[in-house]
Amino acid sequence: AQEDILRRQSARESAARTYARALPIVPVRARGLTIEGADGRRYLDCLSGAGTLALGHNHPVVLEAIRKVLDSGAPLHVLDLATPVKDAFTTELFRTLPPGLAERARVQFCGPAGTDAVEAALKLVRLATGRTGVLAFTGAYHGMTAGALEVSGGATEVRVTRLPYPQDYRCPFGVGGEYGAELGARWTESVLDDTKSGVPLPAGMILEPVQGEGGVHPAPDAWMRRMRQITEDRSIPLIADEVQTGVGRTGRFWAVEHSGVVPDVMVLSKAIGGSLPLAVVVYRDDLDLWQPGAHAGTFRGNQLAMAAGAATLAHVRENGLAERAHSVGTRMLTQLRSLAAEFPCIGDVRGRGLMIGVELVDPEAAPRAAPLDCPAPGPGGTGPRPAAPALAAAVQQECLRRGLIVELGGRHAGVVRLLPPLTISDEQTSAVLDRFADAVAAVAR
Ligand code: PMP
Repeated sequence: AQEDILRRQSARESAARTYARALPIVPVRARGLTIEGADGRRYLDCLSGAGTLALGHNHPVVLEAIRKVLDSGAPLHVLDLATPVKDAFTTELFRTLPPGLAERARVQFCGPAGTDAVEAALKLVRLATGRTGVLAFTGAYHGMTAGALEVSGGATEVRVTRLPYPQDYRCPFGVGGEYGAELGARWTESVLDDTKSGVPLPAGMILEPVQGEGGVHPAPDAWMRRMRQITEDRSIPLIADEVQTGVGRTGRFWAVEHSGVVPDVMVLSKAIGGSLPLAVVVYRDDLDLWQPGAHAGTFRGNQLAMAAGAATLAHVRENGLAERAHSVGTRMLTQLRSLAAEFPCIGDVRGRGLMIGVELVDPEAAPRAAPLDCPAPGPGGTGPRPAAPALAAAVQQECLRRGLIVELGGRHAGVVRLLPPLTISDEQTSAVLDRFADAVAAVAR
């Protein structure tokens, strides 16, 4: 059955399908970290719906919440009408919001996807400031609709000013660390203060506290605070895209909490829907300048997603799963760094909480450039070697052969990403690390 399904889908489905190409499996059952294919094979799923499944697959509290709505006879489609289910979701969401925003927050329900919420956030800051331009960062990923693409890395819309996002391993200044990040902050200031040839004052700045699709780059806390100060000084709304970093994944409930930065706008999706489609924008009440109907969407009221999402948010909060993500993530980073010391094809290991990236490089190639000599040295040693997307893809396939599902990402497509659910047990963590180490050894052989 598995082969037939795969054959039919590849004959009928768009060439745009992505995951299905690298992962030729047909999932029929799943629980927690485990997915079972139609052929009976079982896999440890560290893709987690591209970071969506905070509680893993089919967590009992999520299933129970969905069943409760189904059994109650409540309407499943209500556009954006008020319902007890929506009320419960909003209450739980507001309970989790970072201090500084929680007291003055408004939530706007958007379409089903993260990219819908990004669109709403961009429109909102343009409306609120009467300005059009947006500051965004190299390597950013905010979605696939037109406005979101504008602010994602590689896009070329004129209204966007792209600024360097801090990176240790491939620091654009060849420095890395907080010093490299500070150079990026000063660049940002100089662009904003260049009134003659620079950009007119922008409508907003959008950033990911940890870049995910861009290859797992955690922004230093000091840089986050600099971005907050730079935008606040110039009355530029700061939008934090927490679509992937939210709901405990990075070791705090929201990734902005690491730095204490309070953004003006937060874009949320993925885990907030408890594995069902849901996206919202949360912002300070004085920005709530919409006219009714100014930003609509038929699927803003997904009742099952709100129920599943409320159950997920509550479970993460009540069970300290953000702290758990921090401790398991720290263990994984430590072990993966030992692996990197053993295998020169691993150029870098980085991450925050359970958002982890392992960058594969060509071990034979010469390093790109030595890091600059600077007062506060970053990574030190030699410079980065060229990314090795083929090696990363080979590691992904070797992982799959060993029953481990991982994702690929990074601006140079050389990063293997691990995004296990926050509920991963210690034993499962060991199994993931063992299989991953075997896969790297197989590729390096
Ligand atoms: N923002 C970030 C940070 C993301 O990681 C993603 C998806 N990977 C999006 C926005 C877009 O979300 P969606 O795919 O649901 O449109």
